[in-house]
Amino acid sequence: MKEYKNFINGKFVDSKSGRTFENRNPANWDEVIGIFPKSNAEDLNMAIEAAKKAYPRWRAIPLPKKAEIMRRAAEIMISKKEEAARLMTREMGKVIKETRGDYQEGIDTALYAAGQGRRYFGYSVPSELPNKICFTRRDPLGVWGLITPWNFPVAIPSWKIFPCILSGNTAIIKPATDTPASAGELVQVLYEAGLPEGVLNIIYGGGGEIGEAMLSHPDIVGISFTGSSDIGMRIGEVCGKTLKRCSLELGGKNGQVVLADANLDLALDGVLWGAFGTTGQRCTATSRLIIEEPIYNKFIEMLKARVEKLKLGNGLDETVDVGPLVNKGQRDTVAMYVDIGKKEGAKLLTGGEPYTEGECAKGWFYKPTVFIDVLPTMRIAQEEIFGPVLSVIKAKNFEEAIKILNGTTYGLSSSIYTNDLNKAQKAAELAETGIVYINAPTIGAECHLPFGGMKNTGNGHREGGWTAYEIFTEVKTVYIDYSGTLQKAQIDTWQE
Ligand code: NAP
Repeated sequence: MKEYKNFINGKFVDSKSGRTFENRNPANWDEVIGIFPKSNAEDLNMAIEAAKKAYPRWRAIPLPKKAEIMRRAAEIMISKKEEAARLMTREMGKVIKETRGDYQEGIDTALYAAGQGRRYFGYSVPSELPNKICFTRRDPLGVWGLITPWNFPVAIPSWKIFPCILSGNTAIIKPATDTPASAGELVQVLYEAGLPEGVLNIIYGGGGEIGEAMLSHPDIVGISFTGSSDIGMRIGEVCGKTLKRCSLELGGKNGQVVLADANLDLALDGVLWGAFGTTGQRCTATSRLIIEEPIYNKFIEMLKARVEKLKLGNGLDETVDVGPLVNKGQRDTVAMYVDIGKKEGAKLLTGGEPYTEGECAKGWFYKPTVFIDVLPTMRIAQEEIFGPVLSVIKAKNFEEAIKILNGTTYGLSSSIYTNDLNKAQKAAELAETGIVYINAPTIGAECHLPFGGMKNTGNGHREGGWTAYEIFTEVKTVYIDYSGTLQKAQIDTWQE
């Protein structure tokens, strides 16, 4: 067990609050991973002062030089991958194959940032007047607050940290209370790679206290938040009052459509991974399966057999398919939705109870659960459960399947399995989601492409790839007139 401290201005510091909290293994609640400071507003102020002080010098360093630090961070991460993945499985519960993937996403994001330092493009466009050039550049904004959830303990902090600081901003990260250790180790990697003191600071503590204090702090120029839609709406409201920039990456209720002409074995592999990977705790998890009528019964039979073979257990065991839920609250939420589903009249195909065999008795395990004959309007088909619960809905045809797919308030990811090229293309056009997969599950984003959703999944920003850099920068338009005369746009027109 390790005792963690806040990391401010390049140094480990005790919290002024004197309070702490424990982080326990969700697969074995007897195991304490670490003790962390429960910080207060005074700690946050210290971190903001450090980030403000570091900003002018950091901003002035040429981007390719900043990018070298990102490349060194990637190299250090590569050397630490296995150790970090094991820590992540212990603190969050998801299986080791997945935590290796989570960490790899962090490495890839660091490498992308390393390249981005030398291709930080603006636009250069011709002027309507002679002897004049026009271009855009992107500039940093100042001190950012980064607030992250627990389901991707390294990937999501990486998605924010690397573009934020490469762009010349400085930042304070507040990781989720359930996964503080992985984020803390990531911050250390950046300092090992040569990050100047104060550029990135980490404060541990509750969202209600530290997170809230960040939102209204006048010296924080922007908030980058990933988490639930409820908290995201609150953040948008508070930031809106002072016109603080905020990017919100929120919940999902993702659907996979399987049409009658699809490769059913492939579609089955897809839905098992999409629905039960990460124990259903992904923003992109498949929580609705929409099956075209002619294959409905057959596909359900195939699904039941495979779901019941999934192996639950401690994620450090390489043979385990599904780990625990992250904490008791999350398991209680799943149990609550299973009750709701039963009361609504959906039919429980399999699962529907906690799993307590052997060593799993000391963890937050829940059996992979499938409801069939779900109606699109039921709560289990509308609300984000964030657990291993799949709602299966029958659709008469392609048109109805798309209507059901789009019939929620969320819009993150969607998937369609079909061998009909026209229907696949039409689905990509009609899906009201930020990400569409054809013949692939709803999960599986790659870090160099935009990531984010429509409707209640966010406020229009996209993390990942080049679009993440748009979040953390301000566009500046520059006109240079070298004519030596006063030229008035729209009034003085060019003449031969
Ligand atoms: P959450 O409860 O909304 O918390 C997210 C973060 O916000 C945590 O660090 C939390 O701190 C903090 N927080 C809580 N209340 C706050 C407040 N009033 N002001 C500021 N910050 C506050 O979400 P979660 O349970 O960690 O994560 C699951 C959710 O994230 C799901 O809805 C999932 O769909 C979504 N998610 C979305 C994406 C995406 O890219 N769209 C990706 C992953 C997850 P504490 O931990 O201390 O409470």
